[in-house]
Amino acid sequence: MFLEVTDRGLYCGAGDFYIDPVLPVARALITHGHADHAIPGHDSVLATPETLAIMSLRHGESAPKTPQPIRYGETIDHFGVRISFHPAGHVLGSAQILLEHAGERTLITGDFKRRPDPTCPPYQVIQADRLVIEATFGLPIFRHPPVETQIAMLLASQKRDESRSQLVGVYPLGKCQRVIKLLREAGWEAPIYLHGALLPLTRFYEENGVSLGPIKPATETKKAELVGQIVLAPPGALSDRWTRRLPDPVIAYASGFMQIRARARQRGVELPLVISDHADWDELTATILDSEAREIWVTHGLGDGLVHFARGKGLEAKSLEIRGYEEEEVAA
Ligand SMILES: [Zn+2]
Ligand SMILES: [Zn+2]
Repeated sequence: MFLEVTDRGLYCGAGDFYIDPVLPVARALITHGHADHAIPGHDSVLATPETLAIMSLRHGESAPKTPQPIRYGETIDHFGVRISFHPAGHVLGSAQILLEHAGERTLITGDFKRRPDPTCPPYQVIQADRLVIEATFGLPIFRHPPVETQIAMLLASQKRDESRSQLVGVYPLGKCQRVIKLLREAGWEAPIYLHGALLPLTRFYEENGVSLGPIKPATETKKAELVGQIVLAPPGALSDRWTRRLPDPVIAYASGFMQIRARARQRGVELPLVISDHADWDELTATILDSEAREIWVTHGLGDGLVHFARGKGLEAKSLEIRGYEEEEVAA
């Protein structure tokens, strides 16, 4: 078989490499820098220059020993497998991977979204014979609202009570910078205050040409100065003592899963913001059709709905059991 699921993840025998392996391997192709796709400890890694930089930023000593950059659209021949990377619109550096072998095209979407995101290049439609697609939101109940409406809710909350602060939980890679950029586009010009864990990747985005306006470290700011301000922190910090430095914070959380109100309540989120870096149901099904693939493989938890959809269109479809992609929830 050209591609198979192993205990280390998706493996291509012809090229002897793994795609987003969940255990350290000799040769990996990495779609993007999120923790469950880009784990530390690989030897040789083929990825976009941005993803390689993110991996070395996050993994330090355990970053890839032999990093091999590949730009969007560039092609590499490896043991008879033609490899190319294409924008996935998910986070900075994120890519879909196209493998061409023996006259057959296999496209691995990695995580992706098709809505505009001012912090990374847009998703590109690629045709293939076989499509390996993520399904983080692979159920018809998931339809993400326009992000502008969610940013408007945050700004309305700020205006409603300017004696409070707004604390927004955001994943450090992608979500954080996108929320900042969306706030700027909505006219919020004041400094945005960041938890220390968000600073390195935010700086990295700025170094890569994504200008985000005035950013200040929340930790070095006096409580009184944070009155009426917007503060971003990683989701894990929303419920810890770190929040005590903030004046009466409204707890918000930006994630596609905030559409499930029970989950928001469970986490003590007062202001759920449905802002996702993943495709919703309509984007997923459109991608299956646009790819013109006749064989659909679905990764990530919620695959059954998409498998059913694809079979209904007369396509061959199955769910792949790849362990280790679950922690993505926080990045959703
Ligand atoms: Zn991701
Ligand atoms: Zn993922």
